[in-house]
This record gives sequence, structure tokens and C-alpha cells, in this order.
Amino acid sequence: MSKLQAPRANEIGPITTGSAEQNAYMEDIERLFTIDTDYLIKIKDHFLKEMDKGLNHDNQTLAMIPSYVEGRLTGHEKGHYLALDLGGTNLRVVLVTLEGQGKFKTISTKARVSEDLKTGPMRNLCEYIADCIDKFLTEQGLENSEEHLPLGYTFSFPVLQSKVGFNCTGAIGKDPVLLLQDALLRKHVPVKITALVNDTVGTLLSNAYQKPDTVAGLILGTGSNGAYVEKIARIGKWKHPTTTSDEMVINMEFGAFDNEKVILPVTRFDNKLDRKSINPHYQTFEKLVSGMYLGEVVRNVITDMMDRNLLFGHQQYTERISSHYRFETSYMSSIEEDASSDLAAVRDILDTDLNLVNVDLVELKIVKRICQLVGTRAARLAAVAIVGILSHADHLHSAVDVGIDGSLFEFYPSFEARIYEAMAELMPNCAHGIRDTIRLGLARDGSGVGAALTACVADKMLRSK
Ligand code: ADP
Ligand code: MG
Repeated sequence: MSKLQAPRANEIGPITTGSAEQNAYMEDIERLFTIDTDYLIKIKDHFLKEMDKGLNHDNQTLAMIPSYVEGRLTGHEKGHYLALDLGGTNLRVVLVTLEGQGKFKTISTKARVSEDLKTGPMRNLCEYIADCIDKFLTEQGLENSEEHLPLGYTFSFPVLQSKVGFNCTGAIGKDPVLLLQDALLRKHVPVKITALVNDTVGTLLSNAYQKPDTVAGLILGTGSNGAYVEKIARIGKWKHPTTTSDEMVINMEFGAFDNEKVILPVTRFDNKLDRKSINPHYQTFEKLVSGMYLGEVVRNVITDMMDRNLLFGHQQYTERISSHYRFETSYMSSIEEDASSDLAAVRDILDTDLNLVNVDLVELKIVKRICQLVGTRAARLAAVAIVGILSHADHLHSAVDVGIDGSLFEFYPSFEARIYEAMAELMPNCAHGIRDTIRLGLARDGSGVGAALTACVADKMLRSK
């Protein structure tokens, strides 16, 4: 899958054409949101230390969870594998047919998960999922498979928690895999759940199948996280005997990086977001980097300027600009993309989506500049994570691939270019140029395809034991 080229940002410089008060405020904002090269290196060094802690001890800020996925895919694997992707609203069943040589075909089906199912007994949800799988296999002529089809089960969020709207009864403390496997057995569906998959691990694997030099997978979507290939010998807390490989995929849970707030340059706008979030003091890194939050940080700056009569002074607050999370991260994409001299697209968003009218040009520029600062900071921090992973795991002797899934990476203008720029600053001695050394690639739908591939790896491991 090649990356459809995301639009480039139309860069805007620091604001100098406002009133003296606006210019002074913006100068301060520039300082607060800009992370220079030296400081970026310091953050990376701290990230490396935290990785080490997480690999060697339990209950650290970076959880560094061994995925039990050993080794890597070679691209030569063949056969039918299933993936089950249970998201907040939809259930997707994907049949992945591996053809070898890095090629695969997918066929999928999608079904809505009703409110009743999400909040009713877990048993009902499992029955429903089993029926969906059964129906899909029948459509594909696989309902009478001699061998049970390996299935990878993925949640991009811990779906059994209430925050994405799931609140099933009878699920607490029970293994969701066992509950579903029971339902499949009761209905004689020839499927064996061989893996419970985290979406970063899935992203890594789906990229690896097509690009064997893949060493890491990232999510840059609603949330942010990463997984990478580590030498088992360096995972101090891993006490099990090694089996089929000397490497293991680690799910880092790096969104929690610096929950202690000792290194990340959080601003008062970030602190405000954090205090009002459902998880204050947690996921500090994620709150600076991911799609769920960036728009809200921008909104916090805009409303602070409004409080100080520095923006839209001629009108009252609108209900929309005052509402939490009403300034969506996708607005930032459209705003940054606007290359017109009168910033017509920016004006249109403020008007149509936020009911802010009669905005003057310098105000439009200010809004755009705020988006650029917040978006650039996010990309530079994502670069810290990537370079941190690759230098810690000592993967930088030759060119490597990194698979990235998520709408932020896919659609935000210049997000990728800004990551490359920051990575080059972090690796000034990079011999072949940064783009040839660290090849970032969009791994669209890594969680789906990756889950099936994880089932494949798990199946290989089971057979070789
Ligand atoms: P998920 O993380 O749930 O798997 P996605 O990877 O599609 O789903 O990410 C969705 C998030 O990406 C949204 O919450 C939103 O914050 C962000 N997003 C969606 N569209 C855009 C866009 N055009 N530009 C920037 N961010 C976007
Ligand atoms: Mg996802």
C-alpha cells in the first residue's frame, strides 16, 4: 500500500502584522510551543532511559509489554487467516489470504454493534460476533474447513472499558478470548483464536509482511503508541524461556511517556486540557501528539486570546468555540492546507463550524499560526519516539522501515515532512540522508490486516513448539 500523498501545509511565519498586544502574545506562544534541536535531544535521551526502565522492571511509566509475538514475518507465509476488529461502533471480520512474496488479498465484512449489545451481557455480544463470523465463512465457502482457521482478535481500544461506550455485564475479569472461543465452539464455527492483538503490533506486522526491514509500528490516530522488535536478551523482566526466536515485539504504550512531567515542555494550555480530561496526569505524551487532543489545545489558545480581547473582540463567544473538543483536529488540517492569500478556507471553518463571523485577515493568520505551532510540536515529538526506538534497539546500522497507521499521519498536511525534519536534527550524522535511512510508510488498516498476520505468527509458534 503506498501512501496517498497528504497535502502539504502552506507554511506561515511568525505573526508580526497584528496589534502590539497581539504580536507580543504570539511571540510568547512561539516560545512556548517551539522545541529546538537541543531540547529535542534531551527529550530523546530521557525517552531512552524510560525505555530501559520499562524493559527491566514492571509497573514503569513506559509499560513495554512483551507481545508474545516472537520473530518477524518473512513475507513467504501462505494461507487463510482471519481478523476480527472490534471498534467503538463497528465489527469487522477480515479474511486475509497470504499468497507469499509479500502479497495478500483481503475480503471483509462490516456489521454494526448495537447499543444493546454494547451494554448487555457479554455472552450476547459473543454470540453475535460468532454468528457474524459464521455467516461470513459461509459466504466465502469456508464453513466446512477441515482445519480451524487461525483468528487474530484486535481492539484498538480496550473495548471492555466504558469509555468507548462498551459496558458489557458478565465480562469483568473474564478473558474476552475465552468467552468468544466458547461461543464459536457452541456454534461449531471452525475458527481458533490464536492471538489477541494490540493495534500497534498489528501495524508493525502488516508493514513487515510487505517490507521485511520493518522494525517498528506506530499509531498516530485518535491516540498514539508504538511497537518495535527487541532482542529478548535485553528484556530484563522477561522470565519465560525463549522459544522460536531471539527477538520479540514490544508494545510500548508510549502515550504514557513522562507522566511525571519532568521533561516534556507542557504549556498552560496543555495543563488545562489535562485537568479537564477523563484521565488527568495520565497519557502526557499522547496528549501532546495525537488526533484526539491537538484541536483542543488549539481551542484553548484561541479562547485564552479571546479572554484577553486579543481575538474576535467585536463579538461574543459562540457556544461552539466554548465547547470542549469542538475544534476538531481535522480543522487544523484544512487550515494548514489553505494556500489562498485571503485564507478563505480558514474563514469558512471559523464561520461554518464555529459560528465566528467578521474575522479580519490578521486574526485568520493568527489562528493558522497556532495550528502550525501545535501541529509541528506534535510531529517533532513523534520523531523523538521513532528515533528513540530505533537507536535504543540498535536498528540503525542499515536502512529500516517503520509502518504508521492513523488518520493524523495520513491526512495532516506536512506531518510526515515535519517528522523527517526533526529526525534529521536528532541524527545529524545520518550517512545516507534521513529519508533513505528511516523509511516511514503508511500501513493503512494495520490493525485489521495485522491481526490476521499476528494469528499467522502465533500459529507458526504453536506448531513449532
Ligand atoms: P482510530 O485511531 O480510532 O483507529 P483513525 O486512525 O482514523 O482512527 O484516527 C481518528 C482520529 O484522527 C480522529 O480522532 C481525529 O482526531 C483525527 N483525524 C481525523 N481526520 C483527520 C484529518 N483530516 N486531519 C487530522 N486529523 C484527523
Ligand atoms: Mg486505528
